[in-house]
Amino acid sequence: MEKTETSDNKYLAEQLQRARRDLAVLYEISNAMRTSLDLDQILFTILTGVTAHTGLGFNRAIIFLVNHKERCLEPKMAIGPESGEHAQKIWQYISASKKSLDDLIKTDNLNQAYESSLFKSIKDLRIPLDADDKNVLSYAYRLATPLHIPPEKISYYAQSSLLQVFKANELVIVPLKAKDKVNGLIVADNLFTQKTITVDDLKIFIMLANQAGLAIENAHLYEMIKHQSHTDAVTGLWNHGFFQEQLTEAVKKAQSEKTSLGLMMIDIDDFKPLNDTYGHQNGDFVLKEIATILKESYREMDFVCRYGGEEFTIILPQTNKDQAYAIAERLRQRIEAHSFVLSSPAASLKVTVSVGVAVLPDDAKTKLELIAKADKAMYTAKFGGKNQICVAE
Ligand code: GH3
Ligand code: MG
Ligand code: MG
Repeated sequence: MEKTETSDNKYLAEQLQRARRDLAVLYEISNAMRTSLDLDQILFTILTGVTAHTGLGFNRAIIFLVNHKERCLEPKMAIGPESGEHAQKIWQYISASKKSLDDLIKTDNLNQAYESSLFKSIKDLRIPLDADDKNVLSYAYRLATPLHIPPEKISYYAQSSLLQVFKANELVIVPLKAKDKVNGLIVADNLFTQKTITVDDLKIFIMLANQAGLAIENAHLYEMIKHQSHTDAVTGLWNHGFFQEQLTEAVKKAQSEKTSLGLMMIDIDDFKPLNDTYGHQNGDFVLKEIATILKESYREMDFVCRYGGEEFTIILPQTNKDQAYAIAERLRQRIEAHSFVLSSPAASLKVTVSVGVAVLPDDAKTKLELIAKADKAMYTAKFGGKNQICVAE
């Protein structure tokens, strides 16, 4: 009799301790997510919560997000040891350092999640949303509810591209949802400790994922609005405000790294007569087509902007005068060669541009000076007969 009471007490004490831990985890995680709109930081917080021993304590976890354009799931971040040995080292370090969950979220280096060999081993996976049900991730995506795959069922999914590289013998996959729409999935397992995944583990995991789904949606919306506020509605290029911000940054960077920075000013030739003859709508069409040519030609590090009206500008980091000239000349030729096909009135137009190029530090020491020099060079190109490049003196 006495014995039963003691074991009941022990059971209750364990339950209480567990409930306290769960509450603390949810509190810490929701707090961290509430204070950030940065997607990387949010993903890192979620994965830390899922894997930290002061969190849910899973061995490994990966977040996949839906790429709606390409209709697939893409791995975005992963946390977990590479081997049992590595796991042992990490856990010894963490228990010795007595870090709380809050500490881990704040102080741990986010880069380590990207540089981990776990992430490297899965980062190229692309899982089509409509792959068959034996592909465990697309199945979980369509299911849109948590999926626990116990050891006896794992072989059914063995051909999944995930399981080909992420060897697991028991898995849990929880959707990241906002307003019933699945934005991603969290995959977790206990490969190294082989700890069984219990109903209680799942319950708290689902609560965490519900919070996480909303935080991810907020970060997406924030990014979208930020992008819109920096974008020109007609051409889809960066707008004047964003150009000014980026050029300030680019000048600072070029000066501190002692690299050169090119700036290109592009103005459409005889655009007013084109508007007068073919109408403003056709003028806008030409602006859009030129923007498309500029977008097709830029390098990853460049910023292509609409400076205003029918003027464009391109910020060219780490670019010297000769390179800037070559880029400008290529653009000029592409635009000259392009036929602008109008539907009403039916016509095929030829359009040319004049371009001014200036380079920091050769031509200017400050941002304002750089803009003024590129602008002046552009006017020299106009006076020289248009459809040409002029480099600042
Ligand atoms: P130039 O060769 O010397 O550059 O001659 P231009 O006719 O292009 O002269 P300028 O650059 O001074 O003229 C700008 C014209 O561009 C005035 C305006 O009709 C037209 N424009 C400016 N912004 C827009 C726009 O957003 N849409 C359209 N359709 N036209 C615009
Ligand atoms: Mg102009
Ligand atoms: Mg013009």
